[in-house]
Amino acid sequence: MENILDYTLEELSNWMKDNGESAFRAKQVFSWIYKGVWIFEEMKNIPKSIGEKLNNHFYIGIPKIIEKFESDIDGTQKLLLGFKDGNLIESVIMRYKHGNSICISTQVGCRMGCTFCASTLEGRIRNLTSGEILAQIIVAQNQLGERISNVVLMGSGEPLDNYDNVTKFLELVNADYGLNIGQRHITLSTCGIVPRIYELADKESSITLAISLHAYSDEIRKNIMPVANKYTIKEVLDACKYYVDKTGRRITYEYALVSGINDSADDAKSLSKLLRGMLCHVNLIPVNEIKENTLKRPSKKIIEDFESILKDEGIEVTVRREMGNDINAACGQLRRSYIETQK
Ligand code: SAH
Repeated sequence: MENILDYTLEELSNWMKDNGESAFRAKQVFSWIYKGVWIFEEMKNIPKSIGEKLNNHFYIGIPKIIEKFESDIDGTQKLLLGFKDGNLIESVIMRYKHGNSICISTQVGCRMGCTFCASTLEGRIRNLTSGEILAQIIVAQNQLGERISNVVLMGSGEPLDNYDNVTKFLELVNADYGLNIGQRHITLSTCGIVPRIYELADKESSITLAISLHAYSDEIRKNIMPVANKYTIKEVLDACKYYVDKTGRRITYEYALVSGINDSADDAKSLSKLLRGMLCHVNLIPVNEIKENTLKRPSKKIIEDFESILKDEGIEVTVRREMGNDINAACGQLRRSYIETQK
């Protein structure tokens, strides 16, 4: 059985033709799925005979909402989603004045091993397929009853470690009969898999690239991000320059502030020097403390000082606005606590 959400319109149209049906049925089926009809027999303009053929070959891979939390502070919703094979992931819906945004996962777990991150503690369980990445938005939009207009690939997983499925997802999410979310409304966050950044650039992609930099030197970066042993900061930044040249898109550098590791005034100055002259934006993320390690977030004063040094040095910077603080919304914590209570 295949997940029908892994198919593009063209692929499903061809499948229809190969199975003796008209190609236009493909669009009808997808329209129902986006409207929230997830059983072939309930699709009113689809004849029973086609429904049966579909049922013999496909399932509609919409995950179940296992738990849902909603923040009283800002309306942020966190969904714990379960796939057919029992694997769990998290998606977070953030509600801004300019529209709804969703943070989705690209893998179950992650094998990148960043020391501060809860998603990587048990390694990578498996990749999500393009349809499974997409389905997070479909199910979220449906239960919300409002359009979701922005997507960030910042949930669990390393998107560029699941390159083929993620790039196919970028095609699916853009479909005008479906979610119709353009690449400019999508941000992909990566720890910096250099060859894949070049590949994305060569596709003339117009998504926003966010790079998890987290340090100005390879030495410091290696302490918190194993991927730094594979690619140097220079290699990452060269790939980013290529991306900017090819796409004209400004890059976001994410910088998780960890007390005593990368948060000093000297760190801020060295970071400014590193990024000076680049088309970029720095997003400071006070680290979310997790119980599995002892990393601490810096004081408010240190965070503000760090920000103002970057500003004074002419670097565009913001501190990540925290949302859903009352619902444990950050970084893989919900899935872990759920799995622990089930044990
Ligand atoms: N694999 C991708 C997506 C990861 S999550 C990447 O590395 O970019 C998105 C961002 O959250 C990354 O910048 C990641 O480094 C950061 N992050 C992960 N755990 C965190 C924590 N406990 N506190 C603050 N930021 C965290």
